Amino acid sequence: MYGLGIIKGLGVTLKHFFMTYWDDLKRLVKGNRYYTREGVAYRMSSEVNGLFTIQYPEEKLIVPEEFRYTPFLVYDEKEDGGKELRCTSCGICAKVCPPQCIWIVRTMDPNTGRPIPVPAEFYIDIDICMNCGLCAEFCPFDAIKMDHNFELSVYNRHEKDIVNKETLAKPASYYASIRPVNYAREQAARAEAESARAARKAQS
Ligand code: SF4
Ligand code: SF4
Repeated sequence: MYGLGIIKGLGVTLKHFFMTYWDDLKRLVKGNRYYTREGVAYRMSSEVNGLFTIQYPEEKLIVPEEFRYTPFLVYDEKEDGGKELRCTSCGICAKVCPPQCIWIVRTMDPNTGRPIPVPAEFYIDIDICMNCGLCAEFCPFDAIKMDHNFELSVYNRHEKDIVNKETLAKPASYYASIRPVNYAREQAARAEAESARAARKAQS
């Protein structure tokens, strides 16, 4: 019969319309359909009924661990409250960056004129960054990682989107919170390398 497909389609739409309210009522008891992480996870799942809309910006999609946006610099938090950037200003990330949007200035020892392994300046033009993650892949010190922050709109890109070292720096605990599996794997590798070094030292 002509028009049967249209009627079926309208039926599906109508079902979604009513199921939205039914699902709202069912989850009203639990109180976690909206504005909670559980609610967003539920509406991203295959079990959801009715509308799937995320109420952005009050709610945000839960991104997977491997999601990557722009890079940030990792620092370790010291016991005395200090921050120690892992970056040694080796420049590898700047060399491998395909669109060349990383700019590093090394710190120079004023007495010897030799470089110190700490960046004096570190900038990334995040408008040019293509989010490829190569900088993070190639960094030998786990000092630069890809962030999950996708809300970066600004009114003045020349002031805000060329990001300096201070703004790029985030603690290792933040890295652990967004990429727990990667962090745990890297910590295990570090501990292994450390014990191998200690064993070599003990033998010599
Ligand atoms: S972030 Fe890593 S690769 Fe880039 S300069 Fe620092 S230590 Fe080298
Ligand atoms: S993610 Fe890619 S484009 Fe962006 S700074 Fe790193 S290497 Fe460059």
